[in-house]
Amino acid sequence: MVGTVVVRQCARCLDWGVPRLREGLCWSCSNWLKHRPTRASCARCRRIGHVDGDGLCRPCVIATGEDIQSGDNAAFPGGAQLHL
Ligand SMILES: [Zn+2]
Ligand SMILES: [Zn+2]
Repeated sequence: MVGTVVVRQCARCLDWGVPRLREGLCWSCSNWLKHRPTRASCARCRRIGHVDGDGLCRPCVIATGEDIQSGDNAAFPGGAQLHL
């Protein structure tokens, strides 16, 4: 099963079809980590990893963003600023 096939899936945001990965990460995740060197336990999923100013790892930032977009009440403090 596992051979020389390059799986082009970002290990961080699980985004498929990434044309070019950098150390297993897509460019947006790679840049995200570069600007957020802090490693801590995520406030949402409790995984140890790079977190942003709200204490959330990138998958949770993406997940909460999707929650907000879908109209569900996300466990997310209001007034948070998104830095892109
Ligand atoms: Zn990614
Ligand atoms: Zn998380």
